[in-house]
Amino acid sequence: MNKKKSQNKEAKSQKRRDFLKKGSIVTLAAASGAVLLDSCGNPTEKAKTINIQPTSGKKYQWKMSTTWPPKFPVLGEGLELMAKWIKDASAGRMEIKVYGAGELNPALECFDAVREGAVQMASGVSYYWSGKVPAAQFFAAIPFGMNAQQTNAWIINGGGLKLWEDLYAEYGLVPFPGGNTGVQMGGWFRKELNSLEDLKGLKMRMPGLGGKVLDKVGAKVVLKPSTELYISLERGIIDALEWIGPYHDYNMGFYNVAKYYYYPGWHEPGPMLELIANQKAFNALPLDLREIIRTAAMRLSLWTLGEFEAKNNTYLKKLVKDEGVKLRKYPADVMKVLKKYSKEVAEELANKNAQTKKIYASYDRFRKDISAWSEVTEQAYYSDIQG
Ligand code: CA
Repeated sequence: MNKKKSQNKEAKSQKRRDFLKKGSIVTLAAASGAVLLDSCGNPTEKAKTINIQPTSGKKYQWKMSTTWPPKFPVLGEGLELMAKWIKDASAGRMEIKVYGAGELNPALECFDAVREGAVQMASGVSYYWSGKVPAAQFFAAIPFGMNAQQTNAWIINGGGLKLWEDLYAEYGLVPFPGGNTGVQMGGWFRKELNSLEDLKGLKMRMPGLGGKVLDKVGAKVVLKPSTELYISLERGIIDALEWIGPYHDYNMGFYNVAKYYYYPGWHEPGPMLELIANQKAFNALPLDLREIIRTAAMRLSLWTLGEFEAKNNTYLKKLVKDEGVKLRKYPADVMKVLKKYSKEVAEELANKNAQTKKIYASYDRFRKDISAWSEVTEQAYYSDIQG
C-alpha cells in the first residue's frame, strides 16, 4: 500500500473513532437531558433538565380558541384530546378549555386574541395570519413545497422551529407544531380537466398561494367561506373547489355535485397546523407544565397526521366505490406549468421583506437538500416496492 493510501485509511479510521466517541457522548447527553445534535453535529435542541420542585398545587385554567368549527373532525377532536393529555399529565393542575371558531372570537382573529391575552392559546394554520405576518406562510404550506415528513425534518433539525419562534416572539407568541394534514387532494371539478386550456376562465375556490398560482394560469379564483362551498358548487357559481382530503370532503358531500376528484394537492403538499401560546402566560407557568404542553403538542402532531392518513384512505375508497367518484390525476403538462408558477409565487412572497427572504432561504435550501434523500427512500419505496 502506498503512503497516501495508508494516510487516507488512517484518517478514515480516526473519523470513525471520533464518530463512535461522539455517538456515546450524544447517547449519554440525551439520557441525561443535555444536548441533542443535528446531522451536522450542531446542537438542535437544548433539552432542559428540569429540577422538579415541589409545587404549590396551584391550578391553571386556560382558554384555547380555534379556527375550526366546534368539535371539528380530527382537528377539533385532536385539541380536545390534547387538553385531556395535559390535564392527566399534570394531575389536574392544568386545564385547557377548547372553544370552536366564533365561540370566543372569529376564526381569523385567533392570532390577535392570543397576542392580546384574551385567550392563552389558539390553534389554526399559520397562513391564516399571512396578511399580517407574510413570513408565517412558510410554516404552513408552499405549493410544490415540502410534504409532512420533510417539513417535520426542517422544523426539528433544519432550523425551522428557531426561525418560527423568533418570528412569533416579535408578537409575544410562542408557536408549536400541532399536526399536519398530509398531502391534500387537488380538488373537485364539475368537468374533466384535460389541459391547461381547461383551467383558463375556470372559477375555482382555492385560497392562499395556490390561488395565486391559479390566477397566473388564467383561472378565476373565487374565495368563499366553507359554509357556502357546497351550494356554490351545486349552483355553478364555482366550477371547482379544493377543501382538505377525502374524509372531510366526504362529510361536506361535494361528491353529490361534482364527480371529478383530482390529485395530488400540489397547492398544499403537507400543511403544518400550529398552536400558539401567549408568551407571558406561557412563561408564567411552572417549568413542568411548560414541558407538558410542549410534549402534548408533539403527541398531537403525530396523532393528527396518523388520523388523517388512516381516515383519508378509508373515505377515498368509499367515495370511489360507493359514490362513483372519478378519481383523476392532474395531467403532467398542467402540473409542469403549475410548478413553474408556484416557484414564481414563492419567490414573490420571499421578496416581500427581510423576514420572508431569510425564512424562504432556509426553507428552500432545506427542501432542495432533503429531496435527494426522499428520492432514494419514500419516493423509491412507494413507486417500486409498495402497491
Ligand atoms: Ca385545503
